[in-house]
Amino acid sequence: MLIDLHTHSSVSDGTESPADLLAAARAAGLDVVALTDHDTTGGWAEAERSRPAGLTVVPGMELSCRWFPSGAPPISVHLLAYLFDPDHPALAAERARLRTERLDRGERIVAALAAAGYPVVWEEIVERSGGGVVGRPHVARALVEAGVVESVDAAFSDLLHHRSPYYVAKADTDVLDGIALVRAAGGVPVFAHGLATRRGRVVGDEAIATMVAAGLLGLEVDHPDHTPEERAHLRGLAADLGLLVTGSSDYHGTNKTTPIAACTTDPAGWEAVQAAATGAAPYRD
Ligand SMILES: [Zn+2]
Ligand SMILES: [Zn+2]
Repeated sequence: MLIDLHTHSSVSDGTESPADLLAAARAAGLDVVALTDHDTTGGWAEAERSRPAGLTVVPGMELSCRWFPSGAPPISVHLLAYLFDPDHPALAAERARLRTERLDRGERIVAALAAAGYPVVWEEIVERSGGGVVGRPHVARALVEAGVVESVDAAFSDLLHHRSPYYVAKADTDVLDGIALVRAAGGVPVFAHGLATRRGRVVGDEAIATMVAAGLLGLEVDHPDHTPEERAHLRGLAADLGLLVTGSSDYHGTNKTTPIAACTTDPAGWEAVQAAATGAAPYRD
């Protein structure tokens, strides 16, 4: 059994539609694949409709969260959520809040740039986005078109990075609240790429223990951004804390170089996810 429990479609920041993503999963020989777009269940219906025969599809999501250490700035963390009830009111409200937050954030970044004299206009950027959520990449492209910078990369490194005066942080979900929401909706919360130091600051073992007390059920251990040492440490921690273990590619289509199924989940981990879920059923034959 080949199982990959973390992928992104074009509904968030991947490059393939859910249907094309599932076709790629099947072509790669996967038996089980989870669709885990950021902060949205928007791809679930298409995934259910377009599922290739023989492939089990796990409806999921990757929730943008924050851990608040005492006496230090918050740390951005990602929480995978599987098989939760998409209509659970509190979790649906939190997804809506994150979407609004994201829209509002784009507008505030553009307002700050315009106030400093950069030739960017919010309404024009929204119009050109085609009705989707406007993020920093859209603002970056507007800056390129206005001739302010040479490239999208330059826009990020000069003006849109997180220490820039024009940067506006997102008010992501407190991870302890996120865990409780996912559990309340009958879902299975798994801490995504928890020790990936190459992605930035990471939380310590104590934070993970606190998350477990809040209802965390698993750790994503095998992930392309984890070193062998980080994987070994997380595997030991999962055993100590009685957590299920997953592995996954975090596939983004051509937005990242990692192929689908680059890392996978043991059948035991997938069994544990199914055993703990009460909010939704996988799509399967
Ligand atoms: Zn992530
Ligand atoms: Zn991801």
